[in-house]
Amino acid sequence: MPVMAERTNIRLLSRQQIRDLVEEMGQPRFRAGQLYQWIWQRGAAHFEEMTNLPKSLRTQLAQRFVIPRIRLDKLTRSVDGTFKLRFRLHDDHLIESVLIPVAKDNRYTLCVSTQVGCSLHCTFCATGKMGLRRQLTVGEIVDQYVLVNRLCQEHYGHPVTNIVYMGMGEPLLNYKNTIESIARIASPDGYHFSPRRITISTAGIAKQIRRLADDSPRVNLALSLHAADDFKRNEIMAINASNNLDALMAALEYFAGKSKGHITFEYIMLKDFNDTLEDATRLAALCRRFPVKVNLIEYNPTGDGLFEKSAESRVNAFAAALAAKRITVTVRRSRGRDIDAACGQLANKR
Ligand code: SAH
Repeated sequence: MPVMAERTNIRLLSRQQIRDLVEEMGQPRFRAGQLYQWIWQRGAAHFEEMTNLPKSLRTQLAQRFVIPRIRLDKLTRSVDGTFKLRFRLHDDHLIESVLIPVAKDNRYTLCVSTQVGCSLHCTFCATGKMGLRRQLTVGEIVDQYVLVNRLCQEHYGHPVTNIVYMGMGEPLLNYKNTIESIARIASPDGYHFSPRRITISTAGIAKQIRRLADDSPRVNLALSLHAADDFKRNEIMAINASNNLDALMAALEYFAGKSKGHITFEYIMLKDFNDTLEDATRLAALCRRFPVKVNLIEYNPTGDGLFEKSAESRVNAFAAALAAKRITVTVRRSRGRDIDAACGQLANKR
């Protein structure tokens, strides 16, 4: 058998590289647009499907390239309507996406992963326990949107309306692919999805927050704050050692100055750790430098017994203390917990 040369993932090519490729293959320029459409918009998995390309071109492409796509491996539905989708990557790694419908508001939020695992080891998060296996490619991030959007259409007769980069992994540590995936999803010749309805959630990497403000100023940003002083934050988020609250607040101020996007603080309410009125006062002080909304998140157990969720009365008192200081605060109840689809629970229990 002839040894096949290793074929390249065609979805790693930029638009310009596709143009160059088409030219090099002696094809008219408009073929580049057709090819790009098949790869990105029309979701082709094989070159044979590209019926408006000449047969010979399809064959030549197939000899040199592959179009790796993620495949649905498992679909679970929560009693509350939340879907968890487990996808298998071409090298057998597994990742998860979540679709959270709020039908009464016509809101269908997709939560995408950006890495297999995560390198940050936040103590309250199940993904952190996996460590980082590898980065997701642009195609693997975009595919989550394409496939979940299809499911959403089929099931709810409605497209995905919001995308949050809050699944497995730290988006700002897979920066290039995260930004590029947003560009593809938002671009008019991609899926024309408004960046105003996209939110990146980060554990807080100051340098990358500034970069994001420069590169992609229309997206929204959520900071996983979870503690309002460095002492406590160091205890639960190792990343805080190199990106302390001063550095983060300065970076967020820069983002707020440059960007049209909104900033949210996410704050998991952890019983007897960060849920006192003193903590609320410290948190309020962090809200003065730029417009920000606070999201109080219910803790989802990850099975290690390290933390417990705060009592409802504590959460309410905490929220009231913030509201009294004219801070916009929402309390987010967990969705999809019965299927391990809630925040911090994505870890591929096999
Ligand atoms: N790395 C990014 C995105 C992934 S985590 C980030 O840190 O923001 C998405 C959100 O889920 C974050 O706010 C994270 O802190 C939160 N989360 C993690 N573990 C959780 C848990 N056990 N219960 C509730 N929320 C959790």
